Amino acid sequence: MAQYELRCRECGRSWGNQPRSICDECFSPLEITYDYDSIQASIAQGTFSRERIAQRPPNMWRYSELLPLPAGFEPRLPVGFTPLFQAPRLAARLAGNGDAKTAADHLYIKNDAVCLPTLSFKDRVVAVALAQAQAFGFDTVACSSTGNLANAVAAHAARLGLKAWIFIPSDLEPAKILGTQVFGANVVRIAGNYDQVNRLCSQIAEERRWGFVNVNLRPYYAEGSKTVGFEIAEQLGWRLPDNVVVPMAGGSLITKIKKAFDELSKLGLVEGKEVKFFGAQATGCSPISTAVKTGSAEIEPQKPATIARSLAIGNPADGHYAIKTIKHSGGWSEDVSDPEVIDSIRLLAETEGIFTETAGGVTVGTARKLIQQDRILPDETTVLCITGNGLKTTDVLADKYQVETPIAPKLAEFEAYLSAKASSLPAAVAEAAVVGR
Ligand SMILES: *Cc1c(COP(=O)(O)O)cnc(C)c1O
Ligand SMILES: [Zn+2]
Repeated sequence: MAQYELRCRECGRSWGNQPRSICDECFSPLEITYDYDSIQASIAQGTFSRERIAQRPPNMWRYSELLPLPAGFEPRLPVGFTPLFQAPRLAARLAGNGDAKTAADHLYIKNDAVCLPTLSFKDRVVAVALAQAQAFGFDTVACSSTGNLANAVAAHAARLGLKAWIFIPSDLEPAKILGTQVFGANVVRIAGNYDQVNRLCSQIAEERRWGFVNVNLRPYYAEGSKTVGFEIAEQLGWRLPDNVVVPMAGGSLITKIKKAFDELSKLGLVEGKEVKFFGAQATGCSPISTAVKTGSAEIEPQKPATIARSLAIGNPADGHYAIKTIKHSGGWSEDVSDPEVIDSIRLLAETEGIFTETAGGVTVGTARKLIQQDRILPDETTVLCITGNGLKTTDVLADKYQVETPIAPKLAEFEAYLSAKASSLPAAVAEAAVVGR
């Protein structure tokens, strides 16, 4: 076979490489399969190894052998290799009091709030999809989006000199709309929810020779998510964690982190291990977590009503496979209310200095629930996937902070300000302020 090709996930039929996401024989989704024997041969020859990877530039292209990239592909952007670090202060707060000590060393954050160029993990998927879009000869790329994909497609298209058409539900956050328009993309607002926008895009894809990253290029796009999993393993010292907590929209990311771990194990780059996959959703759009919690193998579509708009997909394309990944791994799925999302955004910011968007609030809030349910234990290595940046969803915090009245640039004014502030605070805090002075 070629280095990689499309195969039907259900009937196994091969479809070569082409812009297509569904098997015509059985209407199941297509998935990229690699020639693992030839990758194994590269490992045997020493051209692909942990050491070789470590010598490459710190971005997602260091795992090229395991990505569907056209021959001769030259990356134009250093996407990925975002930080992974311990989160001891968050761990202590999530664990409550008793287990704080043990929990502190074992909780990690994978911080894709700082992924280049548009501050979400969607830069990874778009980087791969547009590599193929160019190889297939598309001069126009497009997508249906809950926000972050719109930003990423518009930015990468600008960088590569491609035209971009972006279709979004009309209720997206202003920063996500502006953060798409700024790249010169054509933005089409649709009076409807994501699922309706996506259906429209499938119809447009039939009519026009456009590369829709999450429609006809979807199998290629989805592979980009594997790099989150490769990086987690490498950054843990070529080791797999016990648990990962992943926010879910279409359900693709969680299945691809699993695929990444499976590939590394199969190729002997890490020691194989049962990793538990935990899916996170907002209660106002929780078709996957609801299925997991009720023991159903299939999705019952929902009408989204949540501030976590980046996750607001009521009929997730990979929902069935996300359920399977979670169940087979011994993991679980939970969902959190909008107020919990906001509290969790603030908790992560105040404990670890990371400002995440609503999806990150969903992940942290869900992790808290799973820890309280003893589904995630304090001495297990757990990675929380923070997938997007809080500056894109500041609207949800707008009423949480007051804008202070300005004071004159005079020391006396500041002293007066401090005493006024101290007298309006509870006694203990006020005392601390006075002692500090
Ligand atoms: C798209 C998105 C997700 C979920 O991705 P799926 O692969 O569709 O499940 C998670 N977090 C953020 C911030 C996203 O934009
Ligand atoms: Zn098939």
